[in-house]
Amino acid sequence: MDIKKFREAGYAAIDKICDYYGSLETKPVIAQVEPGWLSKALPTEAPQKGEPFERVEEDFQKLILPGITHWQHPSFFAYFPSPVTFEGILGDLYSSSLSNPGFNWICSPACTELESVVMDWAAKLFGLQEEFHVASGKGGGVIMSTASEAALTALVAARSRFQTKYPDVPLEKLVIYGTTQTHIMGKKAAAILGLQFRPLKVIKGDNYSLRGKVLKKALEEDQRKGLKPFGLIATIGTTSSGAIDNVEEIGQILRDYPDIWLHVDAAWAGVVLSCPEYRDVAQLPAINKYATSFCTNFHKWGLVNFDASTLWVRERTDLTNALDLTPEYLRTKHGDSGAVIDYRNWQLPLGRKFRALKIWFVLRGFGVEGFQAHIRKGIKLAQLFADHLQLPSNVSPRFELVTPVSFSLVVFRLLPPGDRSEMATEEINELNKAYFARLSARSDSIFLVQTLLDDIFCIRFAVGAERTGPEHIGGAWKIIKEEAEGALEEWSK
Ligand code: PLP
Repeated sequence: MDIKKFREAGYAAIDKICDYYGSLETKPVIAQVEPGWLSKALPTEAPQKGEPFERVEEDFQKLILPGITHWQHPSFFAYFPSPVTFEGILGDLYSSSLSNPGFNWICSPACTELESVVMDWAAKLFGLQEEFHVASGKGGGVIMSTASEAALTALVAARSRFQTKYPDVPLEKLVIYGTTQTHIMGKKAAAILGLQFRPLKVIKGDNYSLRGKVLKKALEEDQRKGLKPFGLIATIGTTSSGAIDNVEEIGQILRDYPDIWLHVDAAWAGVVLSCPEYRDVAQLPAINKYATSFCTNFHKWGLVNFDASTLWVRERTDLTNALDLTPEYLRTKHGDSGAVIDYRNWQLPLGRKFRALKIWFVLRGFGVEGFQAHIRKGIKLAQLFADHLQLPSNVSPRFELVTPVSFSLVVFRLLPPGDRSEMATEEINELNKAYFARLSARSDSIFLVQTLLDDIFCIRFAVGAERTGPEHIGGAWKIIKEEAEGALEEWSK
């Protein structure tokens, strides 16, 4: 494709993308295709001769789009919605056009320097204290692909810091702490590092939050066994129910265990820190006091298209001591002098995308106020949905909020009629599984996912798509109520 053809195809592509967004609401939320459908429709080998782009684009419309589940659909309430903005899409387009792996400052000074600037903007947006800012010269922020990568990187640095201080402690003694609600990435990171992961049990009575006393008991037990916990993942906004670990209590306990690296994973909920009124509940003062590292994803609720996970550390040398391995071919005058950041030394891979550009575009396009308005809207709409569930007129069906609403996440279940105290959890679960199956069959209109909290089967309703408004909450409520009536009718037969 030459420049002329690219110009034509590019204009046409933008037109098609605009048409896609214009007609999003008319599409089924979930792709209505069967497994294996695309492989049957495509040739088994790449073409011998190049094809004109129009044919490829036609096939994209005809074959690929029907197999897409529309995460930007206003009735997408599954997982954590990941709102995309046109500013972000354009940022990625420019970034792709430069295709710059930016691992050393000299690879493209603007890639490195914009990242540092944007990470300081974001740190200020979220109220992270100065130690975490790049400008402090001490800590700083780096953009990664995912929260899983950020946690793994933090734990690699934590392990290295611990081993440097205690070279004689055998690896099998090292333990990473999380909770039974920590994202599975904690267990995965431990598996990758060949270390133990200890999920501390958190309970419904504490809204699944990790409390200081639980941590203290576990630390004392492990100390008696000669084990060495060296890293702890605390979560602000767990995946299943949006639980918030008590970072203040955790931090106070960890004062007696200064070798433990406290990584705060706020992959989904961290962006609420942009709104001052949520900073206390989201534990900002404690994060600022105690966290060794902090991560949130702009690519979840933060208006930036995947991938854009942001990690801040209090001590950048913790990362570089573990990850700065510099062969001759990567050495540069600027890097050697220490005058610049070479972000390859803050991360696991060498190459990296120019992700700062799309965050910069979004923050400039929305401004702090626009960003805050988006977060507040999500929280308000989730509350609106929770209000529907709790209407006093809901006699049959009746619903229960299994945990308190957490920002824009509502976790609920359907209650059977009559006296529930007589009923086994498994019986109520069976009703809710049948109910969820009915909701799943409405996949053209709504997308929700289920979860288990202890042994309670629940349904998650997560708000966040940029185009979701009160009318979509109303539409979702209608379906949720209708299917609840249907499920109860079947159940009572
Ligand atoms: N942490 C939490 C609380 C999450 O909810 C998720 C994903 O939903 C993750 C981590 C993992 O995110 P990523 O896909 O960026 O690795």
